[in-house]
Amino acid sequence: ITPLSAIEPHRICVCVRKRPLNKQELMKKEIDVVSVPGNGTLLVHEPKQKVDLTKYLDNQVFHFDYSFDDSATNELVYKFTAKPLVQSIFEGGVATCFAYGQTGSGKTHTMGGDFTGRQQNSSKGIYALAAQDVFAHLNHRKFANLDLSVYVTFFEIYNGKVYDLLNKKTKLRVLEDDRQQVQVVGLEEVYVSTTEEVIKILQTGSACRTSGQTSANANSSRSHAVLQIVLRRNDRATTLHGKFSLVDLAGNERGTDVNSYDRSTLVETAEINRSLLALKECIRSLGMNSDHIPFRMSTLTKVLRDSFIGEKSRTCMIAMVSPGMASCDYTMNTLRYADRPFWL
Ligand code: ADP
Ligand code: MG
Repeated sequence: ITPLSAIEPHRICVCVRKRPLNKQELMKKEIDVVSVPGNGTLLVHEPKQKVDLTKYLDNQVFHFDYSFDDSATNELVYKFTAKPLVQSIFEGGVATCFAYGQTGSGKTHTMGGDFTGRQQNSSKGIYALAAQDVFAHLNHRKFANLDLSVYVTFFEIYNGKVYDLLNKKTKLRVLEDDRQQVQVVGLEEVYVSTTEEVIKILQTGSACRTSGQTSANANSSRSHAVLQIVLRRNDRATTLHGKFSLVDLAGNERGTDVNSYDRSTLVETAEINRSLLALKECIRSLGMNSDHIPFRMSTLTKVLRDSFIGEKSRTCMIAMVSPGMASCDYTMNTLRYADRPFWL
């Protein structure tokens, strides 16, 4: 992978990651329609049909800051996406990293990794890799004089409501004060001092995320999960120094693609679409240096208000795509959403 631009954190970085074909897809002899030649480029060989019914592949080209093919590891993806953002929160910034894509495209694999697995190193996702880096920075002499402590919050947003994953999934209120500061009232912020502690918290929180639901996997993909790594100064007021929000977004598939058409599914889908649209609008406004950021459009953008406001905000979006021909429409939707010209 050759980076388009230097590793320097720019305000908004948009990347794409292709996952490998999985066992089921290989068994079904699914055709891989996505190729990643490098240099931030990604190609989709979209199956089309002419009026005379002859079939052909229409090559669609997309350009991103970075494009990762199916051989990329979480470590590599981390290095070019979230890693520069860790540096920025030590410099007093607000950073945000999003995983976007259809259900099954690799969002949770990328962000969470496989922290239930035994193979410690090979299975770390961006959550754990970022935490590891935060503690490395904390102990670095360059930042030692700052006297900082690390805290984490972990919550999910489902149907526009916030649930605390570190406190028995308690439903929390989101309030905005007269200075436009947004607060999630009562959100647990846990002090942490090692990566292992963060992984423990992620395990507990993730278990809480899916318990008590009929189809755990399907349901968790209908909510946004947010891990925040918060740096506070060790003064009397424990003043906020920097904040990194890592977001595993809900699956972006449309309502019409969902098999069941019951009311609650439709409401759920409408809310997801609304929040993903709001997110795009906020990042676009951020990219245009606009004074007006429409963060009130959704709960997701409301709780992430600080990410879109202020000189020192840095954002990274990782668009995940499945390689199979059967997923082609979803893949095209994801790529159109993440496409540069739409943002800037
Ligand atoms: P999502 O969170 O977007 O719904 P997942 O992260 O759960 O998708 O991925 C779906 C499946 O594909 C999981 O079994 C996951 O382990 C696997 N997977 C995703 N991305 C990769 C990858 N880059 N390499 C290997 N397996 C992957
Ligand atoms: Mg997931």
